[in-house]
Amino acid sequence: MSKLEGRPGTIAGPSETLDPQDWDEVRALGHRMLDDMLDYVANVRDRPVWRPIPDAVRSEFRKPLPRDPSDLAEVYGEFSERIAPYATGNVHPGFMGWVHGGGTVAGLLAEMLAAGLNANCGGRNHMPIEVERQVVEWVRQLFGFPEGASGVFVTGTSMANLMAVLVARRAKLGPDVRHHGLGNAKLTAYTSVSAHGCVAQAMDLAGLGREALRRIHADRAHRVDVATLHARIKQDRADGLDPFLVIGSAGTVDTGAIDDLAALAALCREEQLWFHIDGAYGALGMLSPQIAPLLAGLEQANSIAFDFHKWGQVQYDAGFLMVRDGEQHRDTFAAPVAYLRRETRGLAGSSPWPCDFGPDLSRGFRALKTWFTLRTYGADKLGAMIARTCTLAKYLEAKIAAEPRLQLLAPVTLNIVCFRFRCDDANAVNAEIVADLHESGIAAPSTTMIGGELAIRVAVVNHRTDTANLDAMFDAVLRFGAARVAAAA
Ligand SMILES: *Cc1c(COP(=O)(O)O)cnc(C)c1O
Repeated sequence: MSKLEGRPGTIAGPSETLDPQDWDEVRALGHRMLDDMLDYVANVRDRPVWRPIPDAVRSEFRKPLPRDPSDLAEVYGEFSERIAPYATGNVHPGFMGWVHGGGTVAGLLAEMLAAGLNANCGGRNHMPIEVERQVVEWVRQLFGFPEGASGVFVTGTSMANLMAVLVARRAKLGPDVRHHGLGNAKLTAYTSVSAHGCVAQAMDLAGLGREALRRIHADRAHRVDVATLHARIKQDRADGLDPFLVIGSAGTVDTGAIDDLAALAALCREEQLWFHIDGAYGALGMLSPQIAPLLAGLEQANSIAFDFHKWGQVQYDAGFLMVRDGEQHRDTFAAPVAYLRRETRGLAGSSPWPCDFGPDLSRGFRALKTWFTLRTYGADKLGAMIARTCTLAKYLEAKIAAEPRLQLLAPVTLNIVCFRFRCDDANAVNAEIVADLHESGIAAPSTTMIGGELAIRVAVVNHRTDTANLDAMFDAVLRFGAARVAAAA
């Protein structure tokens, strides 16, 4: 007999809740944590971008499941000593690798507030859902989508792209695909060789298979070749396949190239295909009057995936999917189950719910940090910040073009600069230079392959990055490059 059954009627006292015994003590500690985090951001420039985790820190951090309680102050001490110093580094202005947003103080504080409310934003009738609806409406206006469009927060663009493939699949095959699967359908989709890897993964996860994604070659500016894409669609139709989806890129991950979105939209209209845009980081360029014209045609898409956590600087994670026809979106995910019954009043009201627009049921309050960010800084200032990252990339491009020891490897469309240090065995040496940069704590670019050549890839995404950070990175590349070459000689 279990302990509980053996002692009917005994309920442990309120001291068994997880609330603190001494609120004053926890309040003081909480205020210190907040101060420490504000200092962490305010003084970020005084620290290295990144530092390797010492073996001792890694091993001492590993402990068995704690059975007994610890003081919150002690747990916080471990955070301060072993976690915070060894974070990714994307808060730092010297971080210029991959595509990482820097976060903001408004977002930091909003995360704390969201944690206090601990809202489950899967659905139901409460104001946090209205906050998400407000952001959906702002995005709809920003992208020039019609009323009736729908949107939903998700983890990131990888998830949003997968969901878009599912919406397009459901739109093509009708409700039956949700019950019986693909059957004999031979769906094919089209994108550029420069598309992000998660697009092929989305095809895989949606049960369509990676092979059903035609990766069409791109021109010298890394934009998909629309004529070749069109020809491939015709050929596939002639071969008895069923083209259903084109995925354009608004800011490719390698070089920041933007496909000719208007041409892709026209092609999709003519061929009656779903037009999805992976705008992971580039779509928010719509906030900038200088960049928006490069994205012409975006407003004609059937769906757009993007991240607020990249150029939008919202704290991780804050991905988003916007769908032109909200009914098609909802028809892909909504499911009638008894425990999610909708009512006309009470907490079970206010349908449809976010859980009708994606695979997640329980969901955090991603909308709040996004709403705070948009409200606090305003769309125009965010747009100016985004445009500034592109100006900084042009600044770096000009410096590289004027430096004979360096070579540009791709045109700079937006905020991404790909280049390398010229030398023998350049791929290996440039990879070492990037690792040297990381370990030096000066700057953190990443790498990519462009036409078989390993590029040092600088993506200026962080709103804190300035010319001084680019200068420091530039000088260090020359210094580390020279040292590597000298060592090899
Ligand atoms: C970052 C990125 C993705 C993936 O987005 P996540 O938020 O990391 O899932 C997809 N496509 C492009 C172009 C990206 O830059």
